Amino acid sequence: SAAASTGSTVRSAEYAARAARVIPGGVNSPVRAYGSVGGTPRFLVAGSGPYVTDVDGNEYVDLVASWGPALLGHAHPEVVAAVQEAAARGLGFGASVPEEAELAEEIMRRVPLVERVRLVSTGTEATMTAIRLARGATGRPLIIKFAGHYHGHSDGLLAEAGSGLATLALPGSAGVTAETAAQTLVLPYNDLAALETAFAEHGDRIAGIIAEAAAANMGVLPPEPGFTRGMIELAHRSGALVILDEVLTGFRAGPAGYWGLQAAELPDGIAPDLVTFGKVVGGGLPLAALGGRKDLMEQLAPLGPVYQAGTLSGNPLAVTAGLTTLRLADDAAYARLGHAADVLALTVSESLSHAGVAHRLARAGTLFSVVFGDFATAPRTYEDMKRQEVFRHRAFFHAMLDGGVNLPPSAFEAWFVTAAHDDAALERIAAVLPRAAAAAARA
Ligand code: PMP
Repeated sequence: SAAASTGSTVRSAEYAARAARVIPGGVNSPVRAYGSVGGTPRFLVAGSGPYVTDVDGNEYVDLVASWGPALLGHAHPEVVAAVQEAAARGLGFGASVPEEAELAEEIMRRVPLVERVRLVSTGTEATMTAIRLARGATGRPLIIKFAGHYHGHSDGLLAEAGSGLATLALPGSAGVTAETAAQTLVLPYNDLAALETAFAEHGDRIAGIIAEAAAANMGVLPPEPGFTRGMIELAHRSGALVILDEVLTGFRAGPAGYWGLQAAELPDGIAPDLVTFGKVVGGGLPLAALGGRKDLMEQLAPLGPVYQAGTLSGNPLAVTAGLTTLRLADDAAYARLGHAADVLALTVSESLSHAGVAHRLARAGTLFSVVFGDFATAPRTYEDMKRQEVFRHRAFFHAMLDGGVNLPPSAFEAWFVTAAHDDAALERIAAVLPRAAAAAARA
């Protein structure tokens, strides 16, 4: 079938100009501004299954999926109905509602190392609280994070890469004090020797390590075999805790997140202490969670001395959206998701190879991304990922968008399929790919 072309973007451009007069950069989260791809950000007005529609009436096959939450596709009728029913009973009370415990139970059922759950509103809050808890429980100040891993925008976690071994990180953002940044050690990913050195030098001051279960915010880059295990063993040997960040991978890379794909290969007792969730767990509404060992989680207020609170925490609409999504995300849904990811990854790779575009496909369960460039060996670190040919992504992105496929507007993001990406949606993508691959080749 011939690839379609989308039409006018006049109204999106008008809204972008209007928003830019009242909202910094016209956006409420930076990547939406299309900074790295240029062009007119599409203003979306509707979504259904694998499709989204912009304000000019153009329809796109969506590969952003709300940056992950839309596991079942947009506006799944049963999720919408459940949220409508909850909304009719009240939008929120700031009191406990019955469904909160049900959602906590569902999380614990899927990820057994989670013995207690606290619901919050964003992934940023979940990781921020997990870190406060790690510091509170150990009485130690330092946190290790890995270069290229993203954990939200709290001060201490924006720290960027220091190359080589443990370095005192640069703040990563204006407005973060040097004192705060110095509490975070940034290490190269997939490098157990660097971790060992950091623990040898600072071990009794390290509260914990925070790591994405599989890195997916520099493009997808899973941990190498043995890395997760080694990281957990090194931390525990020094009395430090491990926070596994599954905000992006949780209930998406697999039914029990990326940890669920790894756990079977690890001996009992090798497990993270705390896990953070977001995105899918809220089904598209603002909800995130942290969970973990009971003795740690019970150090949170009101039982313990580590304070955390939220006016909107456990909001009944968000809890209902998350609970309904997880209940509908059965084996069949994950099979559809996995099939769509397999087909798409293969088709993309074939199209790029056919057009002579050097690239690598990175996978982590049902997550994948395309890394443009000629890599002799598979990328392992952020330094490797930063060498990708961003200019080819830009050309590829625009050709796809013009052809009616909405990709993440950055080379450093995962591609998000949904369980609603059926053959028709995949065929629409396949029809555009030759043109987009040719554009990437010419770039
Ligand atoms: N951790 C990870 C792994 C993420 O991918 C993100 C968001 N992309 C966050 C934390 C922060 O979540 P939020 O944007 O909901 O604050």
